[in-house]
Amino acid sequence: MLKDLFIGLSQNQFLNSAAKKYGLKMGAQSVVAGTNIPEVIKSIKELNAQGISCTVDNLGEFVFKEEEATSAKEQILKVIEAIHENQVDAHISLKPTQVGLDIDYTFCLNNIRDIVHQANRYDMFVNIDMEDFKHLELTFNLLDELSLEYDNVGTVIQAYFHKALEYLERYQNYRIRIVKGAYKESEEIAYQDKKDIDSNFIKLIEWHLLNGKFTSIATHDHRIINHVKEFVNQNNIPHNQFEFQMLYGFRKELQLSLASEGYNFCTYVPFGNDWYGYFMRRLAERPQNLNLVAKQVFNK
Ligand code: FAD
Repeated sequence: MLKDLFIGLSQNQFLNSAAKKYGLKMGAQSVVAGTNIPEVIKSIKELNAQGISCTVDNLGEFVFKEEEATSAKEQILKVIEAIHENQVDAHISLKPTQVGLDIDYTFCLNNIRDIVHQANRYDMFVNIDMEDFKHLELTFNLLDELSLEYDNVGTVIQAYFHKALEYLERYQNYRIRIVKGAYKESEEIAYQDKKDIDSNFIKLIEWHLLNGKFTSIATHDHRIINHVKEFVNQNNIPHNQFEFQMLYGFRKELQLSLASEGYNFCTYVPFGNDWYGYFMRRLAERPQNLNLVAKQVFNK
């Protein structure tokens, strides 16, 4: 299956390192907002001007060397400064493996603590993105420890896990982004069928909203979005209790129309040289995204 092929490719470390050297290629430039901080700030300003807030991801994964993890942390600290200096409406998303989770737990915790501490000075939120199941409990542990000191940190719950509702109940008092889930997981722990994933996704969203908690609903699925719109109306859930999120470059018209209808909208804005794994996961989710590749190739 194409999905498995692209997920496999996304985890290929050789191709990942090769891609870093060659800049944004293969259509990635349509879904990655540049390779440096001035470029990403420019993209954020454009989105902010259209009433859209942003969460910024300095792309990176497969980091097994301390110097690389430290340099990723330094770069994220610079992004925080740039967001603050430019007074743009944006916060941070990061992946624990980028700042050392595959090297050493405490090293990673200290790196994220530095980031959360700096963001906290500017009242800026930091989302710890959720990676594959192998990293799930460790990521929850990071959140547990960081939240003893800071309240500007949250994470993601992936609806494909059988235990997703249990996770959401455990972390209901945090700022939570709910997603379907982007990695390949086994049937022992995760739903495989799209229908089951979708219905669990809706269950989690409704549960969290009815619980009165702020909910980030991250999906490009117009059916789920329409369902949420009806659900909030029927249940008198105020618009300031939730936001829709989508990835940069996808369904741009829908992003704009939701923002102009008065819904809180946040675009996930990835940037940097380490675009390969992120881009392959997008192809895995929706092989039609290959159109992006074709367009770039033929527009040259
Ligand atoms: P899908 O289930 O892929 O698609 C459902 C339907 O929506 C399609 O059949 C089609 O009709 C429509 N559709 C979808 N995309 C398009 C498109 N581009 N154009 C037109 N129609 C479309 N995953 C994680 O595991 N961890 C994370 O931390 C994480 N963070 C995320 C943050 C954000 C902001 C977003 C949007 C996603 C994130 N994801 C994360 C990925 C997520 O788990 C899904 O893999 C991804 O969003 C694909 O699922 P979907 O709900 O968007 O729609």
